[in-house]
Amino acid sequence: MKYAHGLAVEEYSWPVNGGESTNKYLKAFGFEIEIKKLSTNYYVLGAVWNSDKKKPDQSERFIANGFWQNGWTDKFLDIVNGVKIGDRVAIKSSFATRDRRSILRIKAIGTVYSNDNNGRNLKINWDNGFVPFDLEGCGSYRKTIHKVANEDIDTIFNYSDEAVKEDKISNLIIDDLELPARTRREINSINRDQGLVRDLKELYNNQCQICSITLKISNTISYSEVHHIRPLGYPHNGPDIHSNMIVVCPNCHVQLDFRETRLSKRTLNLKHSHNIDEIYINYHNSEENR
Ligand SMILES: [Zn+2]
Repeated sequence: MKYAHGLAVEEYSWPVNGGESTNKYLKAFGFEIEIKKLSTNYYVLGAVWNSDKKKPDQSERFIANGFWQNGWTDKFLDIVNGVKIGDRVAIKSSFATRDRRSILRIKAIGTVYSNDNNGRNLKINWDNGFVPFDLEGCGSYRKTIHKVANEDIDTIFNYSDEAVKEDKISNLIIDDLELPARTRREINSINRDQGLVRDLKELYNNQCQICSITLKISNTISYSEVHHIRPLGYPHNGPDIHSNMIVVCPNCHVQLDFRETRLSKRTLNLKHSHNIDEIYINYHNSEENR
């Protein structure tokens, strides 16, 4: 095409992306140009940021300002970059009810009109008059961004009012897949930040930082707990921050609670974005703080 262009107009520069110019010549040669239709993809997007301690849920901000942002600077960048203009997206949160049904709550649905291609920012026209709804059995969409499987597209994006009514879930909701005994204990303890807990579990894919086990509940769901190294509440008054938290399996959690495990940063599985403060480890290991 570059050669043909040169012959035709004696101008030998040719744009790297020759789409429009190519079409011009092909039309001149009598070809009919059909715009290639890209199929729409569907994504669910998380909106809880651990970095924003006062208000982790960014949904309102995203919806009010017509965009969505990946809260991670080092994760899911490729998936975000793969989102195309015209793709449909939904803001979701995933959690479990007390009777352990896994729930996907859809908070907003919209269409992407711009992708900054920096792995973080999508501009989105959110659908007007959208009423949030809960779905049961779609709880495996737990990460910050997921491409929606074909069989789930209708359920999430082409919902009907009837379906919404049927899927209404009781108010008895707990965050994540906390087991009842643990839940009671946690409610007794303190107002902990569930966004922080969820983000840390997501960072480690529910893998125990002490023994490296990932406890599988089913093919799609795994389970972990988050331990505050210097415990929350009286008399320890540890802070509810990531540098005082570790992701553990239930076995290791119990051993930690009973102080049967000494902690050391050298032996913990640690992601580079998760910086545990030595102060809390020393607190845990110290005899006087028992
Ligand atoms: Zn473990």
